[in-house]
Amino acid sequence: MTRPSREDLGKITLMLRDRQKALLEELQAEFDERGTQQLIELMGREPGDGGDVSLADAVADMNIQRADRQIHELRDIDAAFARMKSGDFGICADCGAEIPPQRLLAHPAAKRCMACQQRHERLFAQEGRPKL
Ligand SMILES: [Zn+2]
Repeated sequence: MTRPSREDLGKITLMLRDRQKALLEELQAEFDERGTQQLIELMGREPGDGGDVSLADAVADMNIQRADRQIHELRDIDAAFARMKSGDFGICADCGAEIPPQRLLAHPAAKRCMACQQRHERLFAQEGRPKL
């Protein structure tokens, strides 16, 4: 098993940034003028180098209706950048195994190996979502 190469990591970073941009563009229709200004500032920032609030949190704070899916995915992307920074990127969050670079190139925000992801999805499907 190998860790992603520097070249792979470069590709993955670009994929994450593209995805982040695409999600923000999807959300753009929902932003008011203040939100759009805030978005432009956020997008100019280096991903992962924090500030006090993550991109996903900032979008969540804008209180946009129908943005749950995008916010969820933005959080996964933020988390992937944070793992890159801390050196945990490519390590399964559940079992600690190395995630194959091919999987990371297909799913850059993946935080689990294939086996753990499948197990997680089974558990999640059984639990369902809490009803309000
Ligand atoms: Zn695992």
